[in-house]
Amino acid sequence: MKLETLAIHGGNIVTDSEKPVVQPITLSTTFIHQPESMIYTRANNPNRHALEKLLARLEKGADAAAFSSGNAAGVSVFQALEPGTHLIAPDDMYHGLKHAILTIFKGVLEATFVDMTDMEKVENAFQSNTKLVWIETPSNPLLKITDIRAVAKLATEKGAILACDNTFATPVFQNPISLGADIVMHSSTKYFGGHSDILGGALVTKQEDEFWEKVKNIQTGGGAVPSPMDCYYLCRSIKTLPYRMKGHAEHAMALANYLSSHSGVERVFYPGLKGHPGHEIAESQMTGFGGVVSFQVQGGADRADQIISKLKYFINATSLGGVESLIERRAASEGPDTLTPQNLIRVSVGLEHLDDLLEDMDQALS
Ligand SMILES: *Cc1c(COP(=O)(O)O)cnc(C)c1O
Repeated sequence: MKLETLAIHGGNIVTDSEKPVVQPITLSTTFIHQPESMIYTRANNPNRHALEKLLARLEKGADAAAFSSGNAAGVSVFQALEPGTHLIAPDDMYHGLKHAILTIFKGVLEATFVDMTDMEKVENAFQSNTKLVWIETPSNPLLKITDIRAVAKLATEKGAILACDNTFATPVFQNPISLGADIVMHSSTKYFGGHSDILGGALVTKQEDEFWEKVKNIQTGGGAVPSPMDCYYLCRSIKTLPYRMKGHAEHAMALANYLSSHSGVERVFYPGLKGHPGHEIAESQMTGFGGVVSFQVQGGADRADQIISKLKYFINATSLGGVESLIERRAASEGPDTLTPQNLIRVSVGLEHLDDLLEDMDQALS
């Protein structure tokens, strides 16, 4: 089954005798005892089951676990590590997950944050107790590209698990498991949901091994699971994911090209641009470059804020992946300890008409 077909039919498990075309929402928290029945919604639910089956197939994995947020999914991987374990993560890791490692797991896990585009640094970061390598590609907000195959090879040699945050690429453009990753993580809040109205997260595993058993135990025992309603809406949204991603990527490429030729713009970050340092690796492991573009403006933070305030269609809000274009000066959201340049603007390029988006950006920059 091709991706577009899978997205439409893969998340629709109808067992009702009336045979509705669309899977109903099963709100019941409990199920009548029968040999093969589900037992309790924290452990499983028909809508979550359908979503997890769909996610596993989209990401070419053996199984998936849906969570109430992307952070809950990521934190579950860290929780599944033995205390005293060391992990390697990107220096520009999604700031919410980096913050979780540094606070919730302080004194429990050791972490080294490195530039994942420098393989020598990654190799040197390994210790005898390294059990996890975490990557995020393209990264947030600098769109840095990590060579998934190369890091997977290194992690395998050293006996560590490789987990990849695939939120920016989505399975439409990148399948980390096919490139050697053991676990794929998603914030479903972003492109999977696609309409800025669902919070969710997911993990997909290459194989159902001992580590995955631990993760599943944390999912059901810890209970950070999505509601049947959210699972239903995610299955619904994912039906259009392949077409939405094509639109996002097309608009992002056009905006990146426009910004690259503007004299008021210092630097543009988009892996689809030939001049992007990770362009060749991106081409080798992605089939599209995603919908997020970042750029630095001339004139610093104040000028960046001024441009954002002049826009009509790009909404000044955090998050990404929705049909509406969102824009923010990222450092302002990440706080004082951020490594993100103060004049950097991150755009989640939406599905409004491209002419309207380019015209709006042009008047704001002028
Ligand atoms: C948003 C995001 C997360 C966190 O997901 P939530 O759903 O907000 O908890 C993790 N990684 C990336 C790349 C994200 O964009």
